[in-house]
Amino acid sequence: MSMDEARAPLGDMPPEDFRRYAHQIVDWIADYLAHPERYPVLSQNQPGDVKNALPSKAPARGEAMEAMLADLDRVIVPGVTHWNHPGFFAYFAISGSAPGILGEMLGAAFNVNAMLWRTSPSATELEEVTIEWLREMLGVSAEFGGVIYDSASISSLCAIAAAREAVTELQIREEGLSGSDSRLRLYCSEQAHSSIDRAVITLGIGQQGVRKISTDSEFRMEPRSLAEAIEEDRANGWRPFCVVATVGTTSTTSIDPVPEIAEICNREGLWLHVDAAYGGSAAVVPEMNWILDGSEHADSIVVNPHKWMFVPVDLSVLFCRRMGVLRQAFSLVPEYLQTSDADEIQNFMDYGPQLGRRFRAIKLWFVMRYFGVEGLAARLREHIAIAREFAEWVDLNPNFERLAPVPFSVVCFRAHPQNIPNELELDKLNETLMEEVNRRGKVYLSHTKLKEVFTLRLAIGNIRTTREHVKLAWDELNEVLAGASRGSKFEN
Ligand SMILES: *Cc1c(COP(=O)(O)O)cnc(C)c1O
Repeated sequence: MSMDEARAPLGDMPPEDFRRYAHQIVDWIADYLAHPERYPVLSQNQPGDVKNALPSKAPARGEAMEAMLADLDRVIVPGVTHWNHPGFFAYFAISGSAPGILGEMLGAAFNVNAMLWRTSPSATELEEVTIEWLREMLGVSAEFGGVIYDSASISSLCAIAAAREAVTELQIREEGLSGSDSRLRLYCSEQAHSSIDRAVITLGIGQQGVRKISTDSEFRMEPRSLAEAIEEDRANGWRPFCVVATVGTTSTTSIDPVPEIAEICNREGLWLHVDAAYGGSAAVVPEMNWILDGSEHADSIVVNPHKWMFVPVDLSVLFCRRMGVLRQAFSLVPEYLQTSDADEIQNFMDYGPQLGRRFRAIKLWFVMRYFGVEGLAARLREHIAIAREFAEWVDLNPNFERLAPVPFSVVCFRAHPQNIPNELELDKLNETLMEEVNRRGKVYLSHTKLKEVFTLRLAIGNIRTTREHVKLAWDELNEVLAGASRGSKFEN
């Protein structure tokens, strides 16, 4: 029997040990956040490296924390792709800022279940307060209530479930969809996020129930095509019920013309959901606030503070103008959860499929208070400015070309040297260029396809990213491309 077992055979880690290890781990985190550049941004692991370094069974007896911390450095860190690295430009760059991490620690420590108001009034009321603060900051109309979920995928799923619930003649709650002759249809642009398709699949509406509307030369939904599609569908027996407009699409961050789309939705009696998961945060910057124009007519809007507002994953906010419908879509209160105070308070379990809920609001609260509205706006403004600067470098360099406008902090571009004969070769060149730049480990970029063209994306969103890191990405791209045109790397 070890010393530890003799002292404390049952119960939790002794408080004095917790204090010691917690300090040690906080020191580790502080060093990590001070120097994420020590590591290659993209993990250089091969598949199985982490699994093979760990035993196949859980330890029968408790282990020493020292051994666990040693494995953190030995096994876990090499297998981490460092989203905290300022050279992370892939997908949508994010950051768990220090105040957000501290909020997350406290949320974990309280470990409350935020299902009912009374299961922790602070969790429920802080959720209400932070949603209200965020609403105000972004200039979302006071007609909107809100709820915090884990991800935009779930926010949109719940919004679309509410949209379906709003089709009153179907009585979805009671009757379900199976056996119904009604063929529900949702509309979004061909640039909409895949989470919309997934929500529709999950809700039993089926992929046939999504109609993708064409976009213009700047990747924005064409309202006229939307109106025509709805008319055609009605004539063919479909039941249109929802339109999803995107403010900041995933590939190019294009902004659908929400005012025109809202007008169509209003005329046709359709639920309008605005997916502003990434772009919505930018509305905190006063000169960017126009991006939510038209959203005041929406029924729901999703914004992800875990994407571009420095809150650790996961935290997504769904604003909803028809909280009653959202509630009606999900609320089901078994006897053991009935409370007598239900009239004065909100029980957030009523607004989604989940019963147990984390105390997520506390990390959003920490981030908002620590940086302040102006501090957040200043950081986002800087990201937008350095993205535009990168776009200019691309525009001025004859070896590169830009492939989409830059409304936010993402630049879509590719290498396009004069001597490359055709599109196939260009695609191959750009793919190899990206892989080589990523392999070098200083920066990490990802790609998309735009009109069939292999497109590089530089996404700025990490709180530690400065102009120097963006310049480094540019230098890396140019250096690797120069190597390529000398024929060293990319022959055949
Ligand atoms: C990132 C993103 C999503 C998905 O967000 P999750 O929180 O990862 O589910 C949805 N829509 C848009 C426009 C996004 O940028």
